[in-house]
Amino acid sequence: MQRCVYYEDMRNKESLADRMELAVKVYDHVLQSAGSFEEEDIGADLAYLMGAILKSGYVEFDDDRRILEVLAYLEGNGDRVFPPEHVLWTFIEIMTFKVCDSCGARCCTAETVFYAHGDLSYCEMCWDSRLEVTR
Ligand SMILES: [Zn+2]
Repeated sequence: MQRCVYYEDMRNKESLADRMELAVKVYDHVLQSAGSFEEEDIGADLAYLMGAILKSGYVEFDDDRRILEVLAYLEGNGDRVFPPEHVLWTFIEIMTFKVCDSCGARCCTAETVFYAHGDLSYCEMCWDSRLEVTR
């Protein structure tokens, strides 16, 4: 799992008071925007995120998690509450997934290397076995 040292530095620069303030802001925003904490595990994801903020850690979210959509919501004036440069994003690692065109497996791109061949992309396993067949 690759960790961004730059983000770690940024997180560690935040004082406990700053992190508590951030946690409250995130909590209020998600509560107002999500409708219910019981939908699509948003409450569980929020709990993980609260823990990450308060303990200066980070949480891994799949890129299709509902909480990421809620955190990207706009304010009334059209600005993002948490723009991409906001310190909040140093507490979140977004996991992107790709689907192998051969076996159909959905793999995290941070953990699996994908190989492109024309318009197709193959997971490491399929790529390796493909080479063996060709040999
Ligand atoms: Zn595959």
